[in-house]
Amino acid sequence: MDDEAVYTSPTPRYTQLEALEVDHVLDILGEEAFHIAKAKGWWPEPKSPRQLVQEYLDRGGPDRESLEQLVHDARQTAGTSEAQLIALAHAELSEALEEVRRGEHRMSTAIPQYKAVVEELADVVLRVLNHAHGKSYDLAGAIRAKMEYNRTRPKYHGGKRF
Ligand SMILES: [Mg+2]
Repeated sequence: MDDEAVYTSPTPRYTQLEALEVDHVLDILGEEAFHIAKAKGWWPEPKSPRQLVQEYLDRGGPDRESLEQLVHDARQTAGTSEAQLIALAHAELSEALEEVRRGEHRMSTAIPQYKAVVEELADVVLRVLNHAHGKSYDLAGAIRAKMEYNRTRPKYHGGKRF
């Protein structure tokens, strides 16, 4: 086969209707990942500055411990930071890498019907879905738009080796 032919822009393998179904499934998965995370205490409801200060005073401030608690609460209730969400997705990728480094192809203990590396890759996707839903991002639309863009890119775009 002509090498260049492999790198031409293939036409979409899914119909417009299938694309909408994929969007819908991703939206549902994102919503579910978010609701599970929220039910486990992540994504706390934001508190107003007045609430935070009142709780600080109720704890008997001003003292260092109460003030530290105030700062901690303010950070927690400012909404889960995007840097934190991205770092947590990184952490799951690192867990996948560590599974590959072991070279044992061991099975997951949480979901024993799957290899541990697959569980960690699932964690990455769940983290990203949770992040996107929590920040009201149109992840499904962006994925399809990016795939369309990737379709138009040249062979080894950017001249990189891998
Ligand atoms: Mg994990």
